[in-house]
Amino acid sequence: MTVQERIWDIPGGIHPAERKALSNRTPIQQVPLPKRLVLPLGQHIGAAAEPCVVVGQHVRKGEQIAKANGFVSVPLHAPTSGSVAFIGEQPYPHASGMLAPAIVIDSDGLDEWIELAPHSDYRSLEPSELLTLIREAGINGLGGAGFPTAVKLTARPTQKIHTLIINGTECEPYITADDMLMRERAAELVAGIDILAHLIQPQQVLIGIEDNKPEAIAAVQTACAGRDYQVRVFPTKYPSGGEKQLIQILTGVEVPSGGLPADIGILCQNVGTCMAIHDAVLLGRPLISRITTLTGEALARPGNVEALLGTPVGELLAFAELDQGTLNRLIMGGPMMGFTLPSLDVPLIKTSNCLLASTAAELPPPAPAMPCIRCGECAQACPASLLPQQLHFFALGQEHEQLKEHNLFDCIECGACAYVCPSSIPLVQYYRVAKAEIRELEQKQLKAEHSKQRFEQRQERLRRAEEQKEAERKARAEKAARAKAAQADAPTTTAAAPADEALKKLKIEASMAQVALKKAEKQLAAHDTPELQAQVAELRVAAEAAQKALAEAQATAPAPTPKPAGDEALKKAKIEAAMLKAQLRKLEKLEAPDDDQQAELARVRQQLETAEKALAELDSQKPAATTKPACDEALKKAKIELAMKRAELKKAEKADSDEAALQPLREALAAAEQALHAAEATSGKPAPEMVRTERPGVDAELKALKTEVAFARADLRKLERDDNAASDALEQARTRLAEAERKLAEYQA
Ligand code: SF4
Ligand code: SF4
Repeated sequence: MTVQERIWDIPGGIHPAERKALSNRTPIQQVPLPKRLVLPLGQHIGAAAEPCVVVGQHVRKGEQIAKANGFVSVPLHAPTSGSVAFIGEQPYPHASGMLAPAIVIDSDGLDEWIELAPHSDYRSLEPSELLTLIREAGINGLGGAGFPTAVKLTARPTQKIHTLIINGTECEPYITADDMLMRERAAELVAGIDILAHLIQPQQVLIGIEDNKPEAIAAVQTACAGRDYQVRVFPTKYPSGGEKQLIQILTGVEVPSGGLPADIGILCQNVGTCMAIHDAVLLGRPLISRITTLTGEALARPGNVEALLGTPVGELLAFAELDQGTLNRLIMGGPMMGFTLPSLDVPLIKTSNCLLASTAAELPPPAPAMPCIRCGECAQACPASLLPQQLHFFALGQEHEQLKEHNLFDCIECGACAYVCPSSIPLVQYYRVAKAEIRELEQKQLKAEHSKQRFEQRQERLRRAEEQKEAERKARAEKAARAKAAQADAPTTTAAAPADEALKKLKIEASMAQVALKKAEKQLAAHDTPELQAQVAELRVAAEAAQKALAEAQATAPAPTPKPAGDEALKKAKIEAAMLKAQLRKLEKLEAPDDDQQAELARVRQQLETAEKALAELDSQKPAATTKPACDEALKKAKIELAMKRAELKKAEKADSDEAALQPLREALAAAEQALHAAEATSGKPAPEMVRTERPGVDAELKALKTEVAFARADLRKLERDDNAASDALEQARTRLAEAERKLAEYQA
């Protein structure tokens, strides 16, 4: 250990009454085990821890009860053994009196530890393992705002740390927790520094202590014996304990505005934090307690205590014999940077280094604020070389850009400016509010920027999707156009088809024109009017024109190529003939065809005749070898005809048609049978064995009764149509029909 006297000064600073003697004259004491502990989940900068226990669960001292919730977060441990009584909102140490999520543990009085895992051989551990031990022990900075220590140790992974500074300054009045720790636990403190030094391997370790702590200096110097650590002692001035200020005092180097000490290769840790690292690594104990100063003239027994986290402030003050009658203001922290607690129900947390129970005489209420007189005292006191009066002015006008340009965020909220202000302006409060406003605004802007980016990305996605759809639509359209063009360019071998189609159309038109003319002529015959005469004349002209067009088309149409007497042509001719035959049959079934229908009948007959002629020609052109198949064809045709006749008869029988209707069908069936026999004879094949069977389900008596009804009805109708029929004959015929129907009904009943 060496003592190096070279130190630097910082700008500004003040010398308020120290009042440290109030609490540093007695040793650190242990507070009795509280019955109930309240552990807020957020005791550090960063994300609050996440509970990993449930209500009613029994926990032991040192057991993890909440896990770190993200990178900038630390876990939380049970300070004593007991059961989880509640998880939810509880009073939180804050000037606003706010509530915050917490885990409440009811002590079982046993104070039973979990099994601890000390690492006395930490030098054999990898740096990452050491960092994990520190993180899992729930350690955050115990001297300042409470930044997670493991995160701070790796803040700039690529930047080599050449100087490790241990902060034993504790410059704020009244507070003596670090002083007492250094006095009483210097060996453990230095062991903790050893762990840090092993972890980051700095070129130098500087321990900074103000000269108002001679016992602490002596103790640390003694503990550092044999080590290359430098204990640097410097004059007492507030706020030398600020991180950036201490770095400047010990090294002469200024941390850049907005930067971190790691940016210039320096790391700063508080003595309390080093102590916690010692406990975590060498003893295996997580952070569950801390040394806290209980001070102020409202306490009969001020001093420092080692208290469990979560201990209610009221119990701590009771331990220090609080005089409720004289208590005027209770501050957590010191008189310069601390904040007033609105209640004694709040718990002690990891960053609570002091409870100041002051009387009215001790810390009188500030005088009413007066307007700034631009005296410049504040600027002279500022350790960060800021212009506090300007910042105050900009804060009043909420001129955020100006505030940022004037380095508001370099303000460490030390309160030195407000301390010296003759107008009693609460300057720091203005800065805190302005900082909060700016941070909130920046968060909103960040959120808005993210939303904007997401919106723009979505729009881009939609635009691309639309483009793709459009391209696909276009491709489909082009494909369709190509297909159409290909159809148009199809080989002329199919040209004949459209020509046939046109001829067919002309035929239909000519036929229709004829039908229309005939109809009009019929009407003219019935009603001879000038209009009808004109209409008939017009239709006649149209019919002649249609007929002429047809004749011309037939004349210009390519002569039917002598079709090869192939199967295809023959097949086509047969189909055409069959279709015409079917059409003819249909027309022939009409009972009383009118003139048009008769004309159609004649036309179809003519066409059929032509078709059969063509078919015969084709047949004759077929090679001899095909003669036999032609016989087969005739046989097949006869068979089909027979089947059709049989089907027609069956259909009529099924429909209970009368005998008059059934008789012609039976005759047609017999004729078809004869035709089939003839075809069989021509083909040389044996005649099929004709087996006539009665239709199942039709009995002979029913058939006879139905036949009688049919004949009786036919006779009656015949007489009724005869105007000269005798009335007796008519009466007899009616009686016969009635009798036949009665008998049939009786039989069917
Ligand atoms: S010390 Fe107070 S009165 Fe003087 S310039 Fe600063 S803010 Fe104004
Ligand atoms: S509170 Fe801020 S502005 Fe005031 S003296 Fe301290 S650092 Fe400077």
